[in-house]
Amino acid sequence: MARVFNFSAGPAVLPESVLQRARDEMIDWQGCGMSVMEMSHRDKEFMSIASQAEADLREIMGIPSNYKVLFLQGGASSQFAMIPMNLLRGKKTADYINTGAWSKKAISEAKKYCSVNVAATSEASNFTTIPAFADWKLAKDAAYLHYTPNETIGGVEYHWVPESGDVPLVADMSSTILSRPIDVSKFGLIYAGAQKNIGPAGLTVVIIREDLMGDVLPGTPSMLDYKIHADNDSMYNTPPTYGWYLAGLVFQLIKQQGGLAKMAETNKRKADKLYAAIDNSGFYKNPVDPACRSWMNVPFVLPNPDLDKTFLSEAKAAGMVSLKGHRSVGGMRASIYNAMPEAGVDTLIAFMADFQKRNG
Ligand SMILES: *Cc1c(COP(=O)(O)O)cnc(C)c1O
Repeated sequence: MARVFNFSAGPAVLPESVLQRARDEMIDWQGCGMSVMEMSHRDKEFMSIASQAEADLREIMGIPSNYKVLFLQGGASSQFAMIPMNLLRGKKTADYINTGAWSKKAISEAKKYCSVNVAATSEASNFTTIPAFADWKLAKDAAYLHYTPNETIGGVEYHWVPESGDVPLVADMSSTILSRPIDVSKFGLIYAGAQKNIGPAGLTVVIIREDLMGDVLPGTPSMLDYKIHADNDSMYNTPPTYGWYLAGLVFQLIKQQGGLAKMAETNKRKADKLYAAIDNSGFYKNPVDPACRSWMNVPFVLPNPDLDKTFLSEAKAAGMVSLKGHRSVGGMRASIYNAMPEAGVDTLIAFMADFQKRNG
């Protein structure tokens, strides 16, 4: 069976070469006579997989040595609670920027633990913009500043990093991590569910500055304490071993492909041509302010929602799947993460033009 172009927002497309390598190593990993799935996480074979993955991630992201890299479970959604539990550190307030669906979820969870200061919101534009930094009303005594660099559902992305001064900057990078180089030293904590741009679902990557660990809210479960995970090299309990291994294969591939600068170049080119096709069509529309359009998730609507079903079924027949937009936005959404080949974007653009000709 031929591979389709999978535009799912997550779990999402993985690089074909990674899947092939995992297939080749499935039954017998490098002559050890078992699958990675069957290995004890304490055995030297898995330890080598784990430490190589961490070393490769540190290299491609340029993670400074005073940061810990944690390979956890629970998804980005568990981080919504772990962050206040670990980072309030005696303070009562945290700053949050509300730019859409994922920001809102992070905010409502944080409200269980602290007073949330929504320092800026783009609700008035129906989350099609990012509030200008100059207008952010940051609290004086905030424990941290949380934002969502890429809103996966609305397709809104920051192409800049907020300057939070001494206040630790916390970023939900679930759908943008590894899409471009970033300066990790500007952040107190970065987190990402793996199933967008890293690997399979079930693994959550956390990158945390060491001095922010070790002062949790009373009653915090051990499993939700970053310091406990860090002190145990993410093996306080059984880690998501297979996801960790696959993520490691993705990191190796990124290195081979030229690193994050190369990812950024390709991602920008892919996104630019898809947005240009939408804007120049006079048929398809994307509502997002061009200054903050996502490189990773591109929502667009057809002039008449009655055409949506036909669009989706014809796209599927042409080998393109999971283009249906999120139920809260409607229309279509093309998620074009690192692993989406440029040929997938080109095929989509050609299909869209042809569909318009027949239905415009
Ligand atoms: C997908 C996503 C989440 C939720 O991730 P889970 O791993 O399902 O908890 C949170 N934030 C962003 C930005 C996402 O894209």
